[in-house]
Amino acid sequence: KERPLNANSPAARDVRHVLHGYVELKAQRESLPTVITAGEGIYVKDENGTPYIEAASGMWCTSLGFGEEELVEAAAEQMRKLPYYHTVGYKSVNPAIDLAEKLAEMAPIKDARVYFALSGSEANDALVKFIRYYNNAVGRPQKKKFIARHNGYHGATVATTSLTGIPINHVAFDLPLPGFLHTTDPHYLHHAHAGETREAFAERLARELDEMIEKEGPDTVAAFMAEPITGAGGVIIPPEPYYEKVQEVLKKHDVLFLDDEVVNGIWRTGKLWGAETMGIAPDTMTVAKGLTSAYQPLSALILSDEIYRGMEKGSLGVGFFAHGQTYSGHPVSCAVALKVLEIIETRDIGGHVGRVSPTFARRLQKLGEHPLVGDVRCKGLIGAVEFVADKKTGRLFDPSGVVARRIKERAESAYKLITRNVPSGDSIAFSPPLIITESEIDEVFDRFEKAVNDVM
Ligand code: PLP
Repeated sequence: KERPLNANSPAARDVRHVLHGYVELKAQRESLPTVITAGEGIYVKDENGTPYIEAASGMWCTSLGFGEEELVEAAAEQMRKLPYYHTVGYKSVNPAIDLAEKLAEMAPIKDARVYFALSGSEANDALVKFIRYYNNAVGRPQKKKFIARHNGYHGATVATTSLTGIPINHVAFDLPLPGFLHTTDPHYLHHAHAGETREAFAERLARELDEMIEKEGPDTVAAFMAEPITGAGGVIIPPEPYYEKVQEVLKKHDVLFLDDEVVNGIWRTGKLWGAETMGIAPDTMTVAKGLTSAYQPLSALILSDEIYRGMEKGSLGVGFFAHGQTYSGHPVSCAVALKVLEIIETRDIGGHVGRVSPTFARRLQKLGEHPLVGDVRCKGLIGAVEFVADKKTGRLFDPSGVVARRIKERAESAYKLITRNVPSGDSIAFSPPLIITESEIDEVFDRFEKAVNDVM
């Protein structure tokens, strides 16, 4: 992009002082950011007033779209009443109590116990600590290793980057930490052996997990963490009977299933939870993003009664539960989440997703007919398209995803459509606000097809 003549423009000032995540630092001074100043429905506007379709819901999060006045009102009302109080020690606030009760009702986990944090990373990071505490409390202090998957994304803290299975997130930061292992990414196109059926692939991956646990020693493995459908790592949907077999392996070795619902949760995949879509009975769930539609930062960590009771029972032995955060259960965030969940019910957002997602699937599948598209994947309102140099063999143009990057940039600059690159081959992901209409879905893909045709 050209540098603006005005050195005091927001973009020029940004380049001087803001440290951005996920940038090529050396090139950052030459790459001006698009400064977003407003939003309405599925659209955001830049500082010149140019509207863009946000087909990625920001970072997979603004599920009710932009400019939702009821959420603004809920936040303002709570701020007037009580802008802040905490839930540390023996204090609490009503919105946190109401929200914990509601999430416990909604989660497919009996008698669930809820801990609040502010981001997906914090919730998953706290979970690593809680599982350590739990295993110490129940008298098996050696059961501490975590297994996640290549290309899974679980956060940006030290522990959650370690859970994350994306090499670029590890290398320059001396991660992963010891005790964090990764098993094969269930991406059929990339990892199936020649002639292997989807079913045989799924079964082989479960066997590999079994062998990994056996090799490490089941007494040393605490938990397996997965997103039911991998989001940021490429919208990867494991074929059946992957989760059925994986859960058999975990049960056999008494290894917990930690379900990361940060992207999948709250109707993104066509059902309330990704666990429901993919047939998972988890021991814990972490929820964020769509929980507040990103109008306030909030995450929830939902624990099974068994884990909580284990922690409680053994607590006298292992000691004080010395974990807490200034903003845990923040009343404004919780009030916004309660309003989101109310809107989801009263406006039947789940039903809406069910009605519009066939159009989303149809338009993605149409892209799949392109000679250089090797794979399309979707469930509900999350989907991805993957570009290949050879449709027959699945050979990539460039594993670093250069084609997808070019198409994404073209879609944004020429057609004002925001999508996301995902580090799974040459892929672009879509996760539009759940309120998107069928004609808006058509508009997303009409614009996207133009960008594809320009680049390819
Ligand atoms: N888990 C998943 C599946 C995510 O996609 C993300 C973020 O994209 C996180 C955890 C981390 O959430 P946050 O960025 O809010 O820390």
